[in-house]
Amino acid sequence: MSGLGKGVVSSSIAKLLQLSNQKVSCVKIDPYLNFDAGTMNPVAHGEVFVTDDGGECDMDIGNYERFLNQDIPKSHNITTAQIYSKVIESERKGEYLGACVQIIPHITDEIKKRIRSIAEDEKLDILIVECGGTVGDIESLPFLEALRQIRSEDGPENVLFVHVTLAPSLDVVGEQKTKPTQHSVQELRRIGIQPDLLSVRCTIPLLEKTKKKISMFTNVLIQDVFSCHDVDNIFLIPQILNDQGIVDIIFKKFRMIGLVNASENWDRWNKIVNSIKKYEDTIKIAMVGKYVTLADSYVSVNHSLKHAAATIGKNVSIELIDSENLNGDMTKLGGFDGILVPGGFGTRGSEGIIKTANFAREKNVPYLGICFGFQLAAVEFGRNVCGLDNANSAEIEPKTPNPVIDLLPEQKDVDNMGGSLRLGANDIIIKDNSLAQKIYNSSVISKRHRHRFEFNKQYIDKFIEKGMVFSGESDNGKRMEILEIPSHKFFFAVQFHPEFNSRPGFPEDAFKAFLEAAAN
Ligand code: GLN
Repeated sequence: MSGLGKGVVSSSIAKLLQLSNQKVSCVKIDPYLNFDAGTMNPVAHGEVFVTDDGGECDMDIGNYERFLNQDIPKSHNITTAQIYSKVIESERKGEYLGACVQIIPHITDEIKKRIRSIAEDEKLDILIVECGGTVGDIESLPFLEALRQIRSEDGPENVLFVHVTLAPSLDVVGEQKTKPTQHSVQELRRIGIQPDLLSVRCTIPLLEKTKKKISMFTNVLIQDVFSCHDVDNIFLIPQILNDQGIVDIIFKKFRMIGLVNASENWDRWNKIVNSIKKYEDTIKIAMVGKYVTLADSYVSVNHSLKHAAATIGKNVSIELIDSENLNGDMTKLGGFDGILVPGGFGTRGSEGIIKTANFAREKNVPYLGICFGFQLAAVEFGRNVCGLDNANSAEIEPKTPNPVIDLLPEQKDVDNMGGSLRLGANDIIIKDNSLAQKIYNSSVISKRHRHRFEFNKQYIDKFIEKGMVFSGESDNGKRMEILEIPSHKFFFAVQFHPEFNSRPGFPEDAFKAFLEAAAN
């Protein structure tokens, strides 16, 4: 079921194989009917993760990138809509030569083709394919059937099934229950899949007697049942699985020889994992946004702050504040070392964000604005420093007399909401002698985007005259990408999404600079 940690288990197994010098990557199957995650509400489904090549993906892709420290292309997030559209398109072109087009074999063939071509095109040793959903769901059936077929075509020495299950502990009896695992394995076997390995999520390490019972009822060898118990830091999961011998077992099942003792790889990884721990000092950050009811809405921003904090040897505490509930009561923002405004869409809660940017600017509190947080910082400056009447973003108030943030020109004729934002990585030119240059220590950076609106250059002279510096631009000066206020302790906002480039041990520079400023 969702929330069990399939993404973390997949990433951890991939990490272990990568540490053993295998060329690995991960694929996420999302059996829903959306073409991609772009149109999904982050509060219901978690953050939309943007890849370098402009995919709007499930947040698990972010986990893969962070664990493996490697970019994952958008083709690695497969949905039902993508498969069906391709099959229907081929049918319309007459490519099935008169055949009756069916789920088996046409849909399953398309699924297999995609998975195999990723593994082949990228010359991978091992591809980890994570299938979302719960066994027994109607939506995931064609995917599980395709995976079953891959196994029977390619043989058990080439395909392994790892099933992620739950062993809840009931407080009253304090016993680890095995029934959910028994039943979900039964369900899986009913559709022809016998799991090779079980990764059992539990609060405390799986007891030997629980393992035994699970093994007996599921027909999985006892050494192939793995405890995946709760830990404070998800990056410890590879170690936990490794301690139980998972790599050895995978190598044996794949009949791979010469398991390398990659101690150097482990040293490097352990250094990163060990840096994510409790330190003496804590930096207090207020994250003011619209999607605060689900912490996963900003999962990459949360991770980025933690990566940055670990490299400067401090803890970070992040308090999510609902911009809609601020109601002009700025006392709620007192006592924080820094304020971060992440991405967002639409009118609701926007005035609260504008007031937040105003509070940070006037009270000299370090401010990091991301995308929406960049745009609304410009709106605030336009209203309160440049004196532009009712300045706003055209997204929030289409009739504003001063649209300091306006629609990207190429967006004017866009009808479809899905996949039509400005997406993916673009080069940004950094201005000499700016804070941006100090932060990035480079004259050009590449960052990922996801937006429809941007700073309206008609207003640029007014802003510069009043002390704002636009220190990053793209597309030959057409788009403003970074703003900063040199007279402020740290006021830095970016049109792009730095959070998608942060990795443990390699924090994105803007987060690091923000926390350094907040710590002082
Ligand atoms: N809603 C804004 C836009 O579309 C900002 C998007 C974002 O924060 N990702 O431009």
